[in-house]
Amino acid sequence: MSTWPQWLPLREELVPMSPYGAPQVSAEASLNTNENPFSPSPALIKAIADRVSAIGAQLNRYPDREATSLRTALASYVNSQSGTSIDISNVWAANGSNEIIQSIFLAFGRKSALGFTPSYSMHPLIAKVTATPWIDGTRRKDFTLDCDAASAQIESLRPALTFITTPNNPTGSAVLIGEIESLARSTKNVGGLLVIDEAYAEFSSEKSAVTLIEKYPNVVVIRTMSKAFAFAGARVGYLVAHPSVIDAMRLVRLPYHLSALTQVAASAALEFSDELLATVQGLIAAREDVASRMEQLGLEVVPSCSNFLLFSGFKRASADVWKDLLDKGVLIRDVGLEGYLRVTIGNEAENNKFLSALKEVLNK
Ligand SMILES: *Cc1c(COP(=O)(O)O)cnc(C)c1O
Repeated sequence: MSTWPQWLPLREELVPMSPYGAPQVSAEASLNTNENPFSPSPALIKAIADRVSAIGAQLNRYPDREATSLRTALASYVNSQSGTSIDISNVWAANGSNEIIQSIFLAFGRKSALGFTPSYSMHPLIAKVTATPWIDGTRRKDFTLDCDAASAQIESLRPALTFITTPNNPTGSAVLIGEIESLARSTKNVGGLLVIDEAYAEFSSEKSAVTLIEKYPNVVVIRTMSKAFAFAGARVGYLVAHPSVIDAMRLVRLPYHLSALTQVAASAALEFSDELLATVQGLIAAREDVASRMEQLGLEVVPSCSNFLLFSGFKRASADVWKDLLDKGVLIRDVGLEGYLRVTIGNEAENNKFLSALKEVLNK
């Protein structure tokens, strides 16, 4: 914990906090933040450069505050994936889904928010920053979500916001759409929103919760271009929800929050969706291959519907295994769950490098 100078009038609730900090150190294989390992193609890079060049002369002007063409393109992408018929009034876009999460807390977080640990660490962190009381709900021992227990927690705690991450980070497990629907009913009964974080949706074969919005207007779905879309550096996340939820986003967003550069780059990337998503099937196959090779090393691997694996079964402290892997040039993630580590699926060379380093480290 840092010590702050006396003269600094820092908000009291921020004093014990530390900044979000996945280590950004260089390593031969960076398998710690669930990025897609494949770079954009030369054709996409050129398309982005052309679009940026075309708007260069208008950079003295503020961007389209409503991000009209990007949100229209995002709506048709979602419709093509999920067979829905949403339109621009159901979509909001921001600088990464983390900004979407922050806007949700700013707009709806007054009462309290419930999530089921272990899950995405930014949900409770952003709750804290926006002064929203956060409640840690519970999962089964194997980290899967017990839907009946979750509904009971919702009905007794009556949170304004309930967060479900599916596939979940850091475990990789998905919640079935029927279970999401029963949580939609429970949250509706208590007058709350059900926030589904689908950052890894494209890696899962489970139906998206966007298909529930028409029937349950209290369901809001957070998506991102950072993972499957291989676009983390551009910072583009989006929200799919009832138009009234989108209207509430306008109250809390900063004016002109999404730069003209981001808007054109993201629109160009969406035109290349087939190409960008082509890596997803390969990453899923690699995930299964890496998992079985890890099991052959005597490790236990949590079944995953995402682009990463949570694993355990070490004969010594997981933090020491993490450090020894880094010494061998392989950066993975210590998610703060004693006895477990998380690895992102990389390209073939990175996966092989990870597996051979892991073998040496385990035998140490
Ligand atoms: C990676 C991740 C995000 C992505 O955040 P961006 O701000 O869009 O890069 C959101 N939610 C979860 C669960 C994640 O793992």
